[in-house]
Amino acid sequence: MKSQKITVIGSINMDIVTKSSIIPKVGETVMGDSFFTIPGGKGANQAVAAARLGADVTLIGCVGEDAFGKELTEHLGKQGIMIDNVKPVTHSSTGIASITLSDGDNSIIVVPGANYEVTPEVVKEHEHIIEESDVVLLQLEIPLESVIEAVNLAKKHHKTVILNPAPIQPLPKELLQQVDYLTPNEHEQQLLLSANDLIDEELEQIKTKCIVTQGSKGVTIYKNEEKLISGFKVEAIDTTGAGDSFNGALAVSLSNGASLEDACQFANAVGALSVTKLGAQSGMPTIQEVEAFLS
Ligand code: ADP
Repeated sequence: MKSQKITVIGSINMDIVTKSSIIPKVGETVMGDSFFTIPGGKGANQAVAAARLGADVTLIGCVGEDAFGKELTEHLGKQGIMIDNVKPVTHSSTGIASITLSDGDNSIIVVPGANYEVTPEVVKEHEHIIEESDVVLLQLEIPLESVIEAVNLAKKHHKTVILNPAPIQPLPKELLQQVDYLTPNEHEQQLLLSANDLIDEELEQIKTKCIVTQGSKGVTIYKNEEKLISGFKVEAIDTTGAGDSFNGALAVSLSNGASLEDACQFANAVGALSVTKLGAQSGMPTIQEVEAFLS
């Protein structure tokens, strides 16, 4: 079967993780316990999820011209993602999340860096790639104007658009009306639909696009009527990246022509498998693993 083309436009980050039993106070230096780096960023995570499932994935994004940028781009290429459109930029560092873990608590500083160089102009330069796609997958870790430009271009070419509204922020109703599917989690849905200027009819219209992920419970769709597509029972080890796995899988399944319900069922399986292993990207299953799980 011809593999479908999925274009992800979004963030690429390195997560920089320090484990320390003591959190330093202002001006203090402490000894930490361990340190590691993990590839992340919602755009990159969703691209990896889709590529592991056998899709033909192109990622459009920016990294800095630095060691993390080089490492991340190489890593994404090894995952089978088309990386020709991951652009190194000179005037910003690669996006990072600096995470301190201490006895189950965490504190995080995110520096978007090069992710904010994915400007509307950069998106526009890639119109030909959007035009060749079957599904365009977006999140909110690049500038909102760039997401809007991407949606405009995708709809100009009649492409299916999935917007994962995370991290949640106020969104213009024109954007919400244009996308085909919105994939908030429960918390994000509440904020999404509490947008001030929506009249009842618009609210209903936007609600029917929602696919609300609900952790182990699964997902609720609102297309014709409110319907829960139940999740799979697994032993959860690490739920980081479950939403990203779900979104990548949803894009793959919809691009293969599945019905919304079947696509959600498949994405639930992928989300469930992803939480059985440590790490966001490293926990994402291959298509063979999903088929074995579902058989
Ligand atoms: P997010 O990571 O964005 O908060 P969710 O926690 O809702 O998203 O998870 C996304 C999807 O991953 C769920 O809809 C479900 O399909 C799957 N999932 C997440 N956690 C579990 C779990 N503990 N057991 C089974 N499936 C899960």
